[in-house]
Amino acid sequence: MIDAHCHVDFKEFNKTREEVMGRAQQKLKAIINSGASLGGNRRTLQMARDYPEFLYPSLGFHPHYAPKADRSVIEEVLKEIKLNLHHAVALGETGLDFHDLKSQEDRNKQEKLFRTFLDMASQEEMPLIVHARDAEKKALEMSEGYEGIPKIIFHCYGGDLETAQLIMDGGHLISLSTLVCFSTHHQELARELPLSHLLTETDSPYLSPFKGQRNEPAFVEETVKTIANMKSMDVKDVAAVTEKNARQVFRI
Ligand SMILES: [Zn+2]
Repeated sequence: MIDAHCHVDFKEFNKTREEVMGRAQQKLKAIINSGASLGGNRRTLQMARDYPEFLYPSLGFHPHYAPKADRSVIEEVLKEIKLNLHHAVALGETGLDFHDLKSQEDRNKQEKLFRTFLDMASQEEMPLIVHARDAEKKALEMSEGYEGIPKIIFHCYGGDLETAQLIMDGGHLISLSTLVCFSTHHQELARELPLSHLLTETDSPYLSPFKGQRNEPAFVEETVKTIANMKSMDVKDVAAVTEKNARQVFRI
C-alpha cells in the first residue's frame, strides 16, 4: 500500500510525527508528501532526507493560498521548486478550488498559478498532483494540450463519474482518499472506476476515517479496504494494483 497524498509536515503532527511515521513504515511501502507552501516544500524536502526511499516529495503551492499570496512569495516558491526538482517525484499540490471562491478575480489568480505549474510539469516532464474542487472539469480542460506532462493525478477526487471518465480517457489517474470510507458518492466512484486508473491516499491530517481523530498515512489501509469492499475484491489485490499504479506514475 502507498499513501499517494499526505501532509505529514503540517503542524498537526508536530508532537507525534515520529510515531506517525513509524506506524506508516510498518504498514506501507511508501508515502508521497505534498508540499503546499514555501515552508511546506522545505519541510517536505527535509523529511525526504530523514526517510529516504520511504517518504517521497512532491513540491507545489496549494490553490487555497494562491489568491492571497504575494507575488514575491510565489516567485520564491517557484525558484526553490526549480532548484529541487531532481529530488521531487511530482509537482503539486496545485490546482483549482472554486468551492468557497466566488470572485472572478480570485479565480483568475488561481488559474494563473495553475497554468505556471502546468507549464513547469510539461517542460520538466513530471507528473502533476492536482487539487480540483468544484472545478474538476475546468482543471482537466486547462491541462489539455500540455503534451509533456506524463500524467495528472486528480487527488482526493470527488467530482462526477462523467468527468472521471474524461480524466481517464486523457490517460490520467484518480486518487481516492479516506473520504471513501464514509461518503456514499465516493463509494459509488470506487465501485464504478477501474482499478487500473486508481491511486489511494489519506490527505492526512484531514479526512480521518475514524470519528474525532486526525488522519495519518497508515490509515490509507481503510481506503484500500473500502475500495475492495465496493468492488467485491480481495484487499491484497486492490493494494497490489494501486501500489503498482503509484510506483509507475511516481517512478519509485
Ligand atoms: Zn492535500
